[in-house]
Amino acid sequence: MKYIGAHVSASGGVEFAPINAHEIGANAFALFTKNQRQWISKPLSEESIRLFKENCDKYGFQPEYILPHDSYLINLGHPEEEGLNKSRAAFLDEMQRCEQLGLRLLNFHPGSSLNKIATEDCLSLIAESINITLEKTKGVTAVIENTAGQGSNLGSEFWQLKYIIDRVDDKSRVGVCLDTCHTYTAGYDIVNDYDKVFEEFDKEVGFNYLRGMHLNDSKKALGTHVDRHDSIGEGLIGKAFFERLMQDSRFDNIPLVLETPDESKWAEEIAWLRSVE
Ligand SMILES: [Zn+2]
Ligand SMILES: [Zn+2]
Repeated sequence: MKYIGAHVSASGGVEFAPINAHEIGANAFALFTKNQRQWISKPLSEESIRLFKENCDKYGFQPEYILPHDSYLINLGHPEEEGLNKSRAAFLDEMQRCEQLGLRLLNFHPGSSLNKIATEDCLSLIAESINITLEKTKGVTAVIENTAGQGSNLGSEFWQLKYIIDRVDDKSRVGVCLDTCHTYTAGYDIVNDYDKVFEEFDKEVGFNYLRGMHLNDSKKALGTHVDRHDSIGEGLIGKAFFERLMQDSRFDNIPLVLETPDESKWAEEIAWLRSVE
């Protein structure tokens, strides 16, 4: 079965996210559990936590299909001690929020070398950050998202995702999320070489590590390493790819989350994806 949703707003409190997801006909969703542009946010209130769980129950959202996203400020591979420590503290806070909400996944962008350290060293730091965080928490899986490889952002190539996973001690609590726009602009031709790209993913990382997908069309061309999402069918990836994905059982039973730019189209996009399933 396919679980489809969008990265919905949690403005006013996390408890509004499941309501917003329900309103667009979703059976999965993503959210920020704190303000994604600030380092520190006030703790979740008991009331907010209770209402979040209540609303998830009410609208039938199970934790396996909810894919919270961490703050964009966090860089788990930061080459400098101060930045690294700050990122690790913030990431731990994000994981603990997920624990409090009864969530099982936390999606994050791996990190950036800022062109100050070698790629492998940065990837090792990211793995170490994950290990430190997993040791202090329970039940939440660290879900590494592949990137477009913009600037010095790592994680655009499948081997880099595997390199991190290989260095994580608890393999049962690490996974990946593939973003279709990032995959495409990173240089994997999912439009013309669908089979080849996913075979390569399976060989280099493994579908057993796939915990979620971000479904985005792309405004930018193959291999440009630029991250600009587009609405489904309006970008350079096109509807045929998403149709194929919806019929591919390797993407069953994981959250498939839209991060497309026009929120007013989400209900329509979800309905279309369902119609070609
Ligand atoms: Zn994404
Ligand atoms: Zn993106």
